[in-house]
Amino acid sequence: MTNKIKMTTPIVEMDGDEMTRVIWQKVKDELICPFVELKTLYFDLGLKNREKTRDKVTFDAAEAAKKLGVAVKCATITPNEERVTEYMLSELWPSPNITIRACLDGTVFRAPISIKGIDPYVKSWKSPIIIARHAYGDIYKNVEAKAEPGDKAYLLIEGGGREVKIPIHSFDGEGMVQGIHNTRSSIVSFAKSCFAYSLDLGKDLWFSAKDTISRKYDRAFRDVFSEVYESEYKEKFKEKGINYFYTLIDDAVARVVRSEGGFVWALKNYDGDVMSDMIAAASGDLAMMTSVLVSPDGVYEYEAAHGTVQRHYYNYLKGLPTTTNPAATIYAWAGGLKKRGELDGLTPLGDFGEKLERAVAETFESGFMPKGLCLISSLGEKTALGPWELIEKIKERLVNTI
Ligand code: NAP
Ligand code: MG
Repeated sequence: MTNKIKMTTPIVEMDGDEMTRVIWQKVKDELICPFVELKTLYFDLGLKNREKTRDKVTFDAAEAAKKLGVAVKCATITPNEERVTEYMLSELWPSPNITIRACLDGTVFRAPISIKGIDPYVKSWKSPIIIARHAYGDIYKNVEAKAEPGDKAYLLIEGGGREVKIPIHSFDGEGMVQGIHNTRSSIVSFAKSCFAYSLDLGKDLWFSAKDTISRKYDRAFRDVFSEVYESEYKEKFKEKGINYFYTLIDDAVARVVRSEGGFVWALKNYDGDVMSDMIAAASGDLAMMTSVLVSPDGVYEYEAAHGTVQRHYYNYLKGLPTTTNPAATIYAWAGGLKKRGELDGLTPLGDFGEKLERAVAETFESGFMPKGLCLISSLGEKTALGPWELIEKIKERLVNTI
C-alpha cells in the first residue's frame, strides 16, 4: 500500500453506545486507519463515561468541536428510566445531541444516501432532498391549558412598563389553549446555518412557512430569512449559480412531490419533524440517512441519523448474527474527513472521503447489501451480508481505488 494520507488538524471524535460503538471501532480499524494517519481528539460519549464524568465529557466535546471546526459523532443513548437501571445512572443525563446543539447553536440537516437500486417512492426525485429543521421553540416548548365553559383566554405580554393583553377566545363549551414562542436570535442562527450549508453544498435553498395566516410569528421567520439572504448571501448564491426560494408550506409540499429533488428544504420545528420522516420513508430506508449539525459560524458535526440500534446490540452480545447497516456511520466519517480536507487544503484527504463514500455505494450497487436494503432494492441479484462482511467488501473496493 502507498503511504498513508497525512492530516494537519485533528477531527473531534465523539464515541457512543451499543451496536454503533462496535461498528464505529471496526470502521476506523478497517476503513480509515489503514489509509489515513488519523488524527482525532477523542471524547468518549458512551453512557458509562457520561455517568463517570457527570456529563462533563459532552460539554468538553462540544467546546472542542467549536475550536477545531469538524466533529464526527457516533450514536449515543438518550437515557430513559430503563437506562437508569441498566447503567446504574445517578441522574437522567440529557441527550448529548441536544447539549451539543445548544453549545454550537446549530441546525441539523438530514440527507438520504442515494444509491442505485434503492429508488425513492416518489418517481420524479433524481437527487436527495435535504431537510433542515429549526430545533427551537414552537410546540416543543409550549404551555397548554384546558378551558371550561365561560372561560376567557388572553395572550398577555408584560415588560418595560407596558402590558399587552390580546383576547384569544371566549369559550361557550370546553376547550383548550396553547402558548408557543420563538426568539429572533434563534431564527437568525437557523437562517444563517441554512444559507451557509446550501452554499457549501451548492444547492438551492427553499424555506416555507404559513405567513399568510400567521402574520407576526411565521412572518418573522420569512422576514429573517429574507434579511439574511439580502445582506449576506445574495451575491454568494449568485456566484455559485444557486437560488433562495420562499413559498407557503402547502405550496412547498405540492412542489416537493413534483420536484426532481436536489435542494435543501428549511422548515420550522414541527414542519421539519413531520417532513423529515416523510422524506426519510419516501427515500427508502431510515438506516440510509445521514445527519450533519452546522453552526451559524461554520462548525460541522457529522453523524448517522439512526440511533444505537439497541436490538441488534443485544443479539450481538449473545453471539447472534446481526443485520446492521454500517453505511450512515461510514458516511459520517467520510463527511468529517472531506470537510477537514477542505478546510485544511488537503486534497488527498478530501479525495479519500469521496472514495470511501463511493466504495460503500458501489458495494451496495454491486448487489452486496444489508438485509434491510435487500428487501427493498430493485436490483436483480442481491446478497444480504452482515456488517463485518460488508465492511470487508467495502475495504476490498477501497483498496483498489487508493
Ligand atoms: P434506532 O437505534 O435508530 O433503531 C431502531 C430500529 O431501526 C432498529 O431496531 C432497526 O430495526 C432499525 N435500524 C436503525 N438503524 C439501523 C441500521 N444502521 N441498520 C439496520 N437497521 C437499523 O432507534 P431506537 O431503537 O429507538 O433507539 C436506540 C437508542 O438510540 C436509544 O437509546 C436512543 O436514545 C438512541 N438514539 C440516538 C440517536 C443519536 O445519537 N443521534 C438517535 C436516535 C436514537 P430492526 O430492529 O427492525 O432491525
Ligand atoms: Mg419525528
